[in-house]
Amino acid sequence: MQLFAYDKSTIVYSELASKKTTYLCPQCGGKLRLKKGLHRRPHFFHMNRPKGCFQGRKSLLHQIIQKSLLTFLPPKECFLEKRFLSIGRIADFVWEPKKWIFEVQCSPITLSEVKNRIQDYRAIGYRVFWILHDRQFNRKRISSAEFYLRKKQASFFTSINEQGKGLFYDQHEWFLRFQRLEKSQKIPIHLHSPKMSKPIFVKETISLDWRKRLKNILSFYYALLLKILTH
Ligand SMILES: [Zn+2]
Repeated sequence: MQLFAYDKSTIVYSELASKKTTYLCPQCGGKLRLKKGLHRRPHFFHMNRPKGCFQGRKSLLHQIIQKSLLTFLPPKECFLEKRFLSIGRIADFVWEPKKWIFEVQCSPITLSEVKNRIQDYRAIGYRVFWILHDRQFNRKRISSAEFYLRKKQASFFTSINEQGKGLFYDQHEWFLRFQRLEKSQKIPIHLHSPKMSKPIFVKETISLDWRKRLKNILSFYYALLLKILTH
């Protein structure tokens, strides 16, 4: 179900679109029309779907997260499904003046794909932030791709659901190899200036007691800092 289209150069969400207008597909540039029914969410359909376009197959959740990004960032400066011909990639969400790309990840991904994508975008001057959905990520055991993204401070999480409820957040966390030992409360991310916490890697020789003490000390100072900043 396709929820986004372009009306000239402006992104339009299906709930706000009109049945009389012909829109353009963000991915293939093909002509789109709006379908509205009693039981289904309003959505766009291709008048002539080209073989290579898979925009309509993107999950509802993926598109709802893209929509949430749009509510926080200036819509006129942002692009969805932007095609970068020189590197043969299509970015989920681009904030053009900043040269930032937000990649929404709701399904598993390999480490090599993550590295390749970061490298390709870096080569043309873009920085990538990965938004990992916590239905798939932020578990106790983590994949090498998630480990890499957390270590590089190149990712944060989202809990946004199909109804658009939830948030973009980061957290303090403690790792032992590929295991997430502890995590703090959710810290909301400000998309205009996303600052991600540096994870702490615990050595095996540190006893659990030590980890608990360390965690207490750190949470104390973190709470203190928040108090100072918000007063
Ligand atoms: Zn298309």
